Amino acid sequence: MGQAIGGQGPIGGAPGFTVPWNEPPRVPLPKHLYVHVPLCRSKCSYCDFFSRADDGAVSHTELVEATLEMLRGWLEPTVRRVPLETLYIGGGTPTVLGDDLVTLVRELTTIMPLAEGAEVTVEANPESVSPELLASLVAAGVTRLSIGVQSLDDETLRLLGRCHDAATALDVVRAALGAGLEVGADLICGVPGLSHDDWLRTLDAIVDAGVQHVSVYPLSIEAGTPMAEAIAEGRLAPPDEDATVAAMDAAAEVLTARGLDRYEVANYAVPGHESRHNTAYWTGWPYLGIGGGAHGMLDGEQARALGLVPPDETGIVRVRYGYAADMFPMRLEKSLSAFETMTAPEALREDAMLGMRMTRGVADELAELAGARGAMESLVADGLVVHEGGRWRPTERGWLFGNEIFARIWGAVE
Ligand code: SF4
Repeated sequence: MGQAIGGQGPIGGAPGFTVPWNEPPRVPLPKHLYVHVPLCRSKCSYCDFFSRADDGAVSHTELVEATLEMLRGWLEPTVRRVPLETLYIGGGTPTVLGDDLVTLVRELTTIMPLAEGAEVTVEANPESVSPELLASLVAAGVTRLSIGVQSLDDETLRLLGRCHDAATALDVVRAALGAGLEVGADLICGVPGLSHDDWLRTLDAIVDAGVQHVSVYPLSIEAGTPMAEAIAEGRLAPPDEDATVAAMDAAAEVLTARGLDRYEVANYAVPGHESRHNTAYWTGWPYLGIGGGAHGMLDGEQARALGLVPPDETGIVRVRYGYAADMFPMRLEKSLSAFETMTAPEALREDAMLGMRMTRGVADELAELAGARGAMESLVADGLVVHEGGRWRPTERGWLFGNEIFARIWGAVE
């Protein structure tokens, strides 16, 4: 004797699938999925992300199959799939996979079908995007392209070790918009040698091109990169802190004036075009992450159903995990290298901390539950946070001292 699992239908298994009446109901998996593609055309001079040059050593088809196998590895009999509200394929540079990327999108969304109106984002770099690829991605269900433009100054692009120029980046932005995709552009500020006027020209040109979303990150010098080496050997000046702050301020001013609202410390969007996937990260929604070096987050119930924590560990409400950054040779099964569990008070503090990355900040109720009211008041006294309308939000100064805000909230215990 058996009964159909409510609402499962073709999503949770074969149509008409039944389970014995006395089996516990399956726990729903997250409705957000991140997939990491750790290949790039070549390595940029400042990059310490987990990716390697696409030099032919890794077969694209094997990489795609290994990635799909990782996803299948989560489909334990104790859990059920729910339609994905967001899918984000990042890297690395997923577009170096070419047609294999289209296969990856199609297969991923066969294993984990999309919800109506789902947001499907692919990260892209200008040198590996063609009109044909854009058309195929749209046909496969992709709705959004996040393009690593970084700068529209050719000398800056050369210094960053990027393998595209400004004209190519603008062509790809226009082609993606023309193909019907929403487009976001990533920009880097504070690059040595880039004048303030050139930075303003980059901001204006990217908005003129019609993007709906811009992310602005300060150049960070990471140990072990060619850029860090050049600075250590005196071949390159280090980034100037004051110039970087001025560039961040200018980005806020220009982008806001041009109709892109700042909704997170580094992210601006035309209203209605905010990244739903990234917003899920900042608002505490569980997500599956797959691919070498990828991270994911599960709630306690999901983690228990998947056997990642013992069934009687009911005090654990959140689990963060990371895949080992060693896709080479590729591993087909779950190979989690990092694992962190959180109790309810810890998860609430994390929610309050992440919430302060966003312009809308954190509601009184969450600050109270997280025991962070005292920390918030001390941040208000220091001019980093403002309290109005029942919410705590970062001030302009607070955007520049985000780490101080996060540290005080994380350390808050009342
Ligand atoms: S394209 Fe992005 S991930 Fe790839 S090497 Fe450059 S900065 Fe790193």
